Amino acid sequence: MIFIEKEIQTAAYLFASILFILSLGGLSSQESAKRGVFYGIVGMAIAILATVLGKGVEGHVYIICAIAVAAIIGTLLARKVEMTSMPQLVAILHSFVGLAAVLVGFGSYLDPATHKLSSAEHTIHLVEVFIGVFIGAITFTGSIVAWGKLEGKIMSKPLLYPGRHAVNIILVLASIVLGVMFARAEGTDGMMYLYIMTAIAGFIGVMLVMAIGGADMPVVVSMLNSYSGWAASAAGFMLGNDLLIVTGALVGSSGAILSIIMCEAMNRSFFSVILGGFGAVTSSGEAAAMEGEVTALTHEEVSDLLKEAKSVVIVPGYGMAVAKAQYPIYDMVQTLQKAGKKVRFAIHPVAGRLPGHMNVLLAEANVPYDIVLEMDEINEDLPDTDVVMVIGANDVVNPGAQDDPSSPIYGMPVIEAWKAEKVIIMKRSMSVGYAGVENPLFYKPNAEMLYGDAKDSVEKILGFLKM
Ligand code: NDP
Repeated sequence: MIFIEKEIQTAAYLFASILFILSLGGLSSQESAKRGVFYGIVGMAIAILATVLGKGVEGHVYIICAIAVAAIIGTLLARKVEMTSMPQLVAILHSFVGLAAVLVGFGSYLDPATHKLSSAEHTIHLVEVFIGVFIGAITFTGSIVAWGKLEGKIMSKPLLYPGRHAVNIILVLASIVLGVMFARAEGTDGMMYLYIMTAIAGFIGVMLVMAIGGADMPVVVSMLNSYSGWAASAAGFMLGNDLLIVTGALVGSSGAILSIIMCEAMNRSFFSVILGGFGAVTSSGEAAAMEGEVTALTHEEVSDLLKEAKSVVIVPGYGMAVAKAQYPIYDMVQTLQKAGKKVRFAIHPVAGRLPGHMNVLLAEANVPYDIVLEMDEINEDLPDTDVVMVIGANDVVNPGAQDDPSSPIYGMPVIEAWKAEKVIIMKRSMSVGYAGVENPLFYKPNAEMLYGDAKDSVEKILGFLKM
């Protein structure tokens, strides 16, 4: 087996770190995202090679077999996964990072080399192990609950029980006491404390994510992304691997920045979300009863309304992604533009199930960026808009977020579709969106429903428009 010198490994790690930074930079815009992913792949390949070929590494056959099996599973999963299921995949991948940190912690504690360290180094290492396992266990169980919520296996409503903050604080204090006992234990006698703390941290992870409601899930996904970065960084400290420390810190801080951006977009307190809803606005969890009548249009009537309109705004949501309606929607937009109408898209920061989900789908259908506007840019134009078409969106156009303090999504900024002359809501039924809240928009006097699958409906409207 060929091994590389420590200096070459350090240089390779430095190069991989630079590639990871370039990768994050590339991922910040759609135009450069593919380049960003490429840098990430090359950086990771260099990192793996430099680690596996490092001096002192044994069992290469096992390592190569493990990498081959994981690469096959990863490739199959990535090819199979639907765009709408990406958040679940991301959540489960975060759980693996958490689990890895826990296992690295256990392994490192049981490693005889750990107990040969000098007194001060030994204590520092035990603290690294304890904190790494703590963060890893929270990330592991929290990510599994997030996966369950996103997959619809666990209820999306927040699980709030009286005194839960006090319970969480007691559990954290108990973990600190266990940490002191762990650091003082002789040899590997501290294993029991480590096991108990792992169980406590796992429970905290479950309760933190269970306490978060459906509409706040985007923040949870980015927050767990951040936690997984810190878990990887902690594993880097335990293994004495500089690259893992740097990469983990990059993921941890970029995830934290994304969480802050998402919190600002949703008007939520960052600390309230990372502490599992601590200090969150408490609502009864039930929105006010609906008043008014729901009326529906036919595809032909919608096309007539569009023919009369001068300005049209399209608000896409998760249903557009499910129906893969972006292609006929862009056909419809082009037809309306040829007829001299001003058509634009209004994008809510949490529309769909991924940050930037709608932007990616519209880019895929070649919709030009200049007609795709963010919520803040378009809201003030809506009172002067003739027709707003809400296509497969629900929570992001819910007026209850503004005027119903009892609504679980109260305080979240929304696209004010109801301010337009006419609103057409295209979805299959009257069912609720991800947050599980009724939508008073459907009952507004200027709103009309168009029932059916989004793609099918848009194709039918397009047929009438072209007649
Ligand atoms: P919603 O989940 O609120 O609503 C989507 C609507 O689409 C549903 O009410 C559904 O109604 C309709 N729909 C589903 N399939 C189709 C179809 N084939 N054709 C037409 N309509 C369809 O989506 P929004 O985009 O408005 O809001 C996103 C929600 O997801 C927010 O609550 C957000 O917080 C949450 N979230 C967002 C994440 C992100 O990062 N963006 C991550 C996790 C959660 P019907 O069944 O009647 O057709």
